[in-house]
Amino acid sequence: MKQDVIVIGAGIIGLATAERLLLQGAKVTILERNKAGQESSWAGGGILSPLCPWDYSDDVTRLTSYSVKQFPAWISALHKASGIDPEYEISGMLILPPHDVEAAQQWCSERKIRIEQRGILGTSSIENNIEIHISKIFDRALFLPDIAQVRNPRLLRALLNRVVQLGGEIIEGCSVNGLETAHKQIQSVTSSCGEFIADYIIVSAGAWSKEILGEHALKLDIKPIRGQMLLFKFDTPPVRSILVKNDLYIIPRRDGHLLIGSTLEDVGFDKQTTTSARDNLLMRAQAILPILHKIPIKQHWAGLRPASPDNIPIIARHPLINNLFINSGHFRYGVTMAPASAEILVNEIMSIPQPFDATPYQMGWNID
Ligand SMILES: Cc1cc2nc3c(=O)[nH]c(=O)nc-3n(C[C@H](O)[C@H](O)[C@H](O)COP(=O)(O)OP(=O)(O)OC[C@H]3O[C@@H](n4cnc5c(N)ncnc54)[C@H](O)[C@@H]3O)c2cc1C
Repeated sequence: MKQDVIVIGAGIIGLATAERLLLQGAKVTILERNKAGQESSWAGGGILSPLCPWDYSDDVTRLTSYSVKQFPAWISALHKASGIDPEYEISGMLILPPHDVEAAQQWCSERKIRIEQRGILGTSSIENNIEIHISKIFDRALFLPDIAQVRNPRLLRALLNRVVQLGGEIIEGCSVNGLETAHKQIQSVTSSCGEFIADYIIVSAGAWSKEILGEHALKLDIKPIRGQMLLFKFDTPPVRSILVKNDLYIIPRRDGHLLIGSTLEDVGFDKQTTTSARDNLLMRAQAILPILHKIPIKQHWAGLRPASPDNIPIIARHPLINNLFINSGHFRYGVTMAPASAEILVNEIMSIPQPFDATPYQMGWNID
């Protein structure tokens, strides 16, 4: 049967894109190799911001800032429709030294983003012995009070529910293995569960996007970068805000779960966890929160981020094939960028004006 749109990959990007298309009245089928929402989007931390936002280009900032503004309404609509609470929470993000205070303050003031310099951490943010320990070591922390977080697995379940409610068809266990092309069009999508025909094909297969595109990937530069995470469980959250030090972050959840992340490893499609990464993450986290010496690791996992140069995703029509689109390469910030990326791609397909210049997200094919 002919479909309006086939979306390949049911991570946060594929699902958010499908939701947006369904709301525009399209008929959507999502082909997912395994189970929906179990890869990078599940593995991530759910921080809704770049870690040190001033380290990124305006192309990243424009997309993340626009996206972050959509979260409260998006989450509340998903919660209402699905009954699943993705636990959106404005917990703030505390960045511990070393950092460039002047660059951070200037960047924030140019964009009217609130930032506070904290000599010591207030007891309202950090509790008892941990507060004392941290304050002895880190006397110049930067606090971004408006940074929020979500719980990825919950967000994905809510979104999946919503897509199905809106009439989207999700076919799990269906691995796409080819795109049949003629006359500058994808004529059919071949997969382990048969052949599909559609007006539009969207590749949103995360780290696997380039493989699926094959020769049509042109010079697209998307590759897997592994990230490992540790999970702990406390009775009550030992900290209230997200803590960042260099590339390490600590994320407290409402129910006492605490995530520690993450590594950036260029090891191909290998999703194994390693003891060396575990020990390194643990040692660095213990230096910030000594109470972690006393709590066992509850879980340790790895995910493969769809890495792209400078963390700029590709949200675009294929330059040579009219009905082929890509929404991928969101690297470290795909959860943060999801609603805006979905909007930009759907605008592109439906010729709706963009909310801002979206050409930087069309450059990833690297052809003149
Ligand atoms: C450890 C870690 C921490 C992170 N922390 C954050 C954070 O705090 N904040 C943030 O914003 N982002 C974070 N990220 C990044 C974010 O998770 C990713 O950018 C985002 O999940 C990418 O989403 P995606 O939908 O493109 O990819 P994925 O979630 O990987 O989804 C791709 C889907 O495509 C499917 N697929 C692949 N091949 C095929 C095929 N041949 N046929 C059919 N389906 C296929 C896969 O099975 C998968 O379900 C983190 C990532 C990791 C790994």
